[in-house]
Amino acid sequence: MKAFKKYLSAYPYAHGIMFHYFHNEIHPPSQGSITQEQCLLLFESIRSSVIQPEEWIDKFRKGRLCSSDICITFDHGLLSQYDIAYPILQRFGMRAFWFVNTVSLNGEIEHLELYRYFRNTCFKTIEDFYKAFFFALSKQPFFEAIENTLHHFNFSSYLNEFHFYTYNDRKYRYIRDKVLTSFQYHLLMSQLMMQKDFDVDKTLKKIWMGMPELKKLSDEGHIIGLHGHSHPTQMGTLSFDEQKREYTFNDELLVKLLGKKSIIMAHPNNSYNQDTLKILQKLGIEIGFRSNMIQKESFTALEQPRQDHTILIDNLFKERLR
Ligand SMILES: [Zn+2]
Repeated sequence: MKAFKKYLSAYPYAHGIMFHYFHNEIHPPSQGSITQEQCLLLFESIRSSVIQPEEWIDKFRKGRLCSSDICITFDHGLLSQYDIAYPILQRFGMRAFWFVNTVSLNGEIEHLELYRYFRNTCFKTIEDFYKAFFFALSKQPFFEAIENTLHHFNFSSYLNEFHFYTYNDRKYRYIRDKVLTSFQYHLLMSQLMMQKDFDVDKTLKKIWMGMPELKKLSDEGHIIGLHGHSHPTQMGTLSFDEQKREYTFNDELLVKLLGKKSIIMAHPNNSYNQDTLKILQKLGIEIGFRSNMIQKESFTALEQPRQDHTILIDNLFKERLR
């Protein structure tokens, strides 16, 4: 409790806690993933400040959120979240916001999570994956054209708000998000998956929640929100029309599948620009979450803060959970 009070005094404003990854004997560990036991300890220590999603929306609309109010959010609609964290939420009578990409619900492949699963299960360590990735990159015909950029960029300073990223985490994300075109990146990853005989079809069913799980959450009063249809890693660099397609499709599919119109969202990879905000407003989205705790006077209702659960854990249980 003491640690949580200290945490709240360090972040004295209402915010969401952003959860992504959980592991157990079925769902493999991923960077920053936590076990059910850790999840239990975490929820137990923050439950006095957690408010239910509909109450969050109501208080937000009325400008009545307190500085200690916290809401729980999950991104990507992952089955591991449903299998591992959802029972703990049930145990405490807590509900959450679930920001989902609709691409997998539409029978298509969402590459971000597929690639994450691949790098977490087909390599002994994440460093082995990076080694293979950087090596494969150096063999590409387009490598010469990007080599200069790679030599001169200071990777250590990229994404430095996420202190838990290693040097190679930063380097990989920079190359993926800022250097390679989407075609080059997918080509490189498919080469690596082929080398490892990775079975894509078999894997898809293990990663995401399906309609039964999502419908159950929605029927029980959890709130499902937007996170882009296909989770582009750099939404804010896409054209107005591309972004409009991403969010409109995401919005329409959720309405079609769940019979409810969402008014809340989270920005994938924290990437957005003024066009994004205009599009979301037009779609009737009232609240949007970022993926860090930066606060600015100019931020709108569509740019609310969220804390990564890894940072929360660091604050609460420095010794206990590591
Ligand atoms: Zn995301």
